[in-house]
Amino acid sequence: MKEENIKTKEDTKKSGYCITTYTFRLYTNHKSYLKVTQEKFNALISRFYRVCLRHKEILEGSNRDCSKKLLKLTGITKDGEIGKEYFEIKLPKDLKRTAASMAVRYAKIYFTYLEKSKEDPNIGTPTKTRKFNSPVTFWTGMRKDIQEDGKMKLKLCTRRNEWRFCEVKIKGFERLKGLEILSPTIVIKKDYVLARIPVKHQIEDVTPVKYRLKEENVRICGITFSNSNNFAICTIIDSKGNYLKSLFVSGGNEYRHECKCILNKIYSDKCKIRRWQTVKDDHINYFKKLHNISEYYAHNVSKRIVEFCKENHVRIIAFADLTIYSDDKSYYYRKKIKKYTPIFLRTKILEYLKYKSFKEGILCKLVNSKNTSCKCYKCGGDVKRGKDELKVCCSNGHNMDYFFNSAMNIALACLNIKKS
Ligand SMILES: [Zn+2]
Repeated sequence: MKEENIKTKEDTKKSGYCITTYTFRLYTNHKSYLKVTQEKFNALISRFYRVCLRHKEILEGSNRDCSKKLLKLTGITKDGEIGKEYFEIKLPKDLKRTAASMAVRYAKIYFTYLEKSKEDPNIGTPTKTRKFNSPVTFWTGMRKDIQEDGKMKLKLCTRRNEWRFCEVKIKGFERLKGLEILSPTIVIKKDYVLARIPVKHQIEDVTPVKYRLKEENVRICGITFSNSNNFAICTIIDSKGNYLKSLFVSGGNEYRHECKCILNKIYSDKCKIRRWQTVKDDHINYFKKLHNISEYYAHNVSKRIVEFCKENHVRIIAFADLTIYSDDKSYYYRKKIKKYTPIFLRTKILEYLKYKSFKEGILCKLVNSKNTSCKCYKCGGDVKRGKDELKVCCSNGHNMDYFFNSAMNIALACLNIKKS
């Protein structure tokens, strides 16, 4: 009996899902209606919010229970019982419910900060929110099915206070063909309207790392980040700790150069400005550009790593946990990390890498970074850095790349293979 049980456990892989949000431009002739809807929605939130502040007792338990109590307090029950704080609401049911849960959430935040400020005098007393400005999410009752060309109908409030379905079109919707689409959120910007559409991805296998490590032909990819021309160095090992393949993700110098050009422009601009001149927007466009470049490289690097891992059937990605103290950690801090250098992108790349790899069924694991860069991965001897910082030599005469060595060590640490 026992054996059978184990078999079924191994055969049935745990499946899971993840949600990613895509942003599209929205074409509509009813921007004013969208605005009216959002205003009404936010007015209702602030009204609910004030009720919550007056009745602190309803804010106990889960958010769902709280919003139920709130709706009971402000509405009429089926038996005709009128709540204490009754007021008339002319909004669709779905909007009412979301507004109530939002108000509960904001009120809870307010009260937790209020309590904190009572205990700790360093924290000032929080102020009550006066005006809300949250975008509207269109739940199933508020929209009609999205067609393949991106047309859909949203329930909007007209200027005459009527609710009716209006047609809008999403630009570039073909990208989402065949995927499971959840409720879109409409964000109104100054010159344009955006639709944020969450999409559900099914993931075939979400077996935890603990069980993956026990698999016979598990492959692990160790990653280190450097401040040289290579953003990241990846090495793949098999279950016995043998080296299989490596990837050096380059482009660091390019990134550094592009950022430097913009930083120089900002600097020269600052020199030109006289003291009596007021600076308009404080170089906001330059900083936007810097942000965009960083985003581009972070996405690009993480995508390349995930593709490499997918091609080589990697199951686990390992990287150093810098929150645990170790000698290796000092590498990252010895040279002060300057903004807009390759190593500066480390956190961003990791953040994107985590969700991108999870989408492909690959899990990430943090590894204790103790002795990952100061020991040789082949023999365990001490590693010495030569004149060229990137090349290292161990006490037994193994020559190799500094970061390659630490990536191998991280992958091996994940496998828990200790070489003496
Ligand atoms: Zn060695």
